Amino acid sequence: MAASLVLTGARVVLPAGVVEDGRVSVEGGRIARTAPAGAPSLDLTGHWIVPGFVDLHNHGGGGASFTSGTVEDVLTGIATHRAHGTTTLVASTVTGDMDFLAQRAGLLSELVEQGDLAGIHFEGPFISPCRKGAHSEALLRHPDPAEVRKLIDAARGTAKMVTLATELPGGIDSVRLLAEHGVIAAIGHTDATYEQTVEAIDAGATVATHLFNAMPGLAHRAPGPIAALLEDERITVELIDDGTHLHPAALQLAFHHAGAERVAFITDAMDAAGFGDGRYHLGPLEVEVRDGVARLVEGDSIAGSTLTLDRAFRRAVTVDGLPVPSVVRAISANPARLLGMYDRVGSLEPGKDADLVVLDSEFTVRGVMRKGIWVIDPQVG
Ligand SMILES: [Zn+2]
Repeated sequence: MAASLVLTGARVVLPAGVVEDGRVSVEGGRIARTAPAGAPSLDLTGHWIVPGFVDLHNHGGGGASFTSGTVEDVLTGIATHRAHGTTTLVASTVTGDMDFLAQRAGLLSELVEQGDLAGIHFEGPFISPCRKGAHSEALLRHPDPAEVRKLIDAARGTAKMVTLATELPGGIDSVRLLAEHGVIAAIGHTDATYEQTVEAIDAGATVATHLFNAMPGLAHRAPGPIAALLEDERITVELIDDGTHLHPAALQLAFHHAGAERVAFITDAMDAAGFGDGRYHLGPLEVEVRDGVARLVEGDSIAGSTLTLDRAFRRAVTVDGLPVPSVVRAISANPARLLGMYDRVGSLEPGKDADLVVLDSEFTVRGVMRKGIWVIDPQVG
């Protein structure tokens, strides 16, 4: 049962800026405009209160995979990320056989319907063999709109995003189909030129899947997808800020060029997130995680991350030097808007779900609340 509560004394990050010695009132699972009568208060002096994190792109955690695990496994992955501050999570699949993916969509859609997940993201199979990353080459296919349709139908209204290489045959028609169905068309694992990328954006693509990773680099006579994605106001760029996927200067370039309004920090996490080193699977491929870095056993490609969004937050502030309100936009507000959920989550405003994260002065998670219930209680630690 969600209790009434007033959190006091903290620096509270609101859309308009940081409020020193702010207060957040919680009642009935939502943020209340005024303190509920008789509600107990909790002094959080010396801490930050920020909106719960929203992860658009996440393959698993806690030893469990969203692509292959049981319902229990998926719930374990969700709980792992929730304890690290992610109160809204989209489950990502990796490339698999079409029938298998349709079946997965059925299983995951039930978890969306019961409120544990915010939606499904299909990463592959409609991606480029030249930029396949940790996706099984034998199972890749061209983005045929009829097959794209089959996947989103299997998700029964819960498909939120499909990553595709839009330069492949059928790519542009698939982008149009996704846009018509209110599903985000994300450009990624792509070998597109600058011009091909512009065409895909004009057709309705709105997200860059992990900008820089799994796409051609930025070159002066061949600016490629990166320049097209960074310059266009209609695109939000995903960034993986784990210190492995991006050089800090690349992250700065993207953040400053796109601006805080057009960045979404994601984890692209795989099973080892919040779990540990060892051998794992990413779809059908074997992955070795060493010192927190996941690589394919064959080929050495980076195979997702072991990131959690609290670490991305801390790194963005303490290593990259980004202002806290900008990081909050990139980690909560922007992804919530993309998902069409900003009326319920993504900021600390009255009427929204009481989804929040309590961080100490070092930006370590001390509390996580989801829908008014403590996932991590700051009084327990
Ligand atoms: Zn991914």
